[in-house]
Amino acid sequence: MINNQQVEFDQQHIWHPYSSMINPPAAYPVESASGVRIKLADGRELIDGMASWWSVIHGYNHPQLNQAAHEQIDRMAHVMFGGLTHEPAIELCRKLVEMTPARLDRVFLADSGSVAVEVALKMAIQYYHAQGKPQKHKLLTIRNGYHGDTFGAMSVCDPVTGMHEIFSGVLPKHFFAPAPQIGFSDAWRDDEITPLASLLAENHGQIAALILEPIVQGAGGMRFYSPTYLKKARELCDEYDVLLIADEIATGFGRTGALFACEHAGIEPDILCVGKALTGGYMTLAATLTSAKVGETISAGGAGCFMHGPTFMGNPLACAVANQSLQLLQTNDWQSNVLRIEQGLIAGLAAATELEAVADVRCLGAIGVIEMKEPVVTTEIQKLFIERGLWIRPFGKLVYVMPPYVMQDDDLDLLTRGMIDAIAHYRR
Ligand SMILES: *Cc1c(COP(=O)(O)O)cnc(C)c1O
Repeated sequence: MINNQQVEFDQQHIWHPYSSMINPPAAYPVESASGVRIKLADGRELIDGMASWWSVIHGYNHPQLNQAAHEQIDRMAHVMFGGLTHEPAIELCRKLVEMTPARLDRVFLADSGSVAVEVALKMAIQYYHAQGKPQKHKLLTIRNGYHGDTFGAMSVCDPVTGMHEIFSGVLPKHFFAPAPQIGFSDAWRDDEITPLASLLAENHGQIAALILEPIVQGAGGMRFYSPTYLKKARELCDEYDVLLIADEIATGFGRTGALFACEHAGIEPDILCVGKALTGGYMTLAATLTSAKVGETISAGGAGCFMHGPTFMGNPLACAVANQSLQLLQTNDWQSNVLRIEQGLIAGLAAATELEAVADVRCLGAIGVIEMKEPVVTTEIQKLFIERGLWIRPFGKLVYVMPPYVMQDDDLDLLTRGMIDAIAHYRR
C-alpha cells in the first residue's frame, strides 16, 4: 500500500505529463484498476472517462490481455529485432495489414506514437530523396493539430495550441493551412479547401507530405471536421505528388465509429500511424504503415534502406498483447459498442447545452466533448469530478470523455450525469 512518504517523493522528484517541478498538485495514487473503474489508494473508486488517453478500450485488468502477457513473458519478454523475428510481431503485422486500407502493406513497428510520427515524416522525406528530389523535404499540415512531443512531431503540431511555442526557434518551419471549419455533418462549401489548395499549388515542389489527424483533431482542440475536407485533401495530394500521412494514433481502432477515421471519407492515406489503443492500453507500442510503392522506392534509393531502428522495435511482449487486443476488438463487436456509447453520450450530454458556462457540446463515436466558454482550472474542476466518483482530465476549455468500449449504459449514465453536475457546480 502506497504511503505518504512515497506520495511526497513523487511530488518532489517525479515529472508527470506537462507538470511543474515547483509545488505541483499531488497526483492521485492508484491502487488498482479493473473494468472501467480506477481504485484510488484511499479506497475511492472512479469511473474512467479517459480510457487512459484513448488507449484502454477493453477496460483495465482484462483476463485475456493478462493471459497474453503472461504467456509471452514466460517465453521471452524481449529480443532485438535487428536480424531476428518472432511470431508475435509477424501475427500483429499480418492483422494490421488486413485491417487497414488495401494499399498499406508495409509495417514499421515503433515504440510510441510520437516515434511512429517521426518515422512517417522520415519515410516521406526519404521517399522523395530516393527519387532524386531532395528539395521535397518540407511538410504541410493543418492548424489545431497534435502529433506528439518529439522534435519532428512538434514541428507539425499547431504552433499555438500545440503546447510547443517555446521551441519554435529550434523547429524547422513547415507550411500550415487553416484548420477546417466545417463540422463533421455540416453542409460542404468548396471555399473550405481553397487555402490548402493554394498552399499546395504554390509550394508542392518543396513539400514531401501533408500530415493530419483524419476527421478528429484531438489534443489540439477536440474538433470534428467534414469528411469532404479529407476527400479533397486526398485529391490534392494526388494532383501535386505529395504523400498523405494519416495520424490515426488517437482515432484508430474504432474510436470515431469507423475502424479508421479515414473510412468516413472513403480514402486511403499513403502512410498511416497507429498507437494508443493498439495494445488495449497495456504498454507502449505504435506502428507506421505504408504502401509497397513507398517502401520499395525508399529501399531502391542511394541509402539502400530506411534509416530508423529503435532498440525495443517489435517488442514481443507488447506485440503479443496487441494481437490479443485486436482479437478482442472483433469478438467484442466494437462497432455496436461504439454506436451504443455514442447514443449514450448524445443523450447524456444534451442537457449541458443549457448551462451558462458551456459554449458547445459535440459527440462522435465514443468521444463526448463539452467546450466551455472559459478555460477551466484542471485541478479545481477535477476535485468536483472525483467527489462524484469520476476520472476526467480536462484541458483548456475542453471537458471531454472517451470511455472504454466496454462501459455499460448504467456507468455511462453515471459518467454523463456527474460530468454535467460537476460543471454546473464549477466556479472559477
Ligand atoms: C497521443 C498522440 C500522439 C503521440 O503519441 P505518444 O504515444 O504520446 O507519443 C501522436 N498523434 C496523435 C494524434 C495523438 O493523439
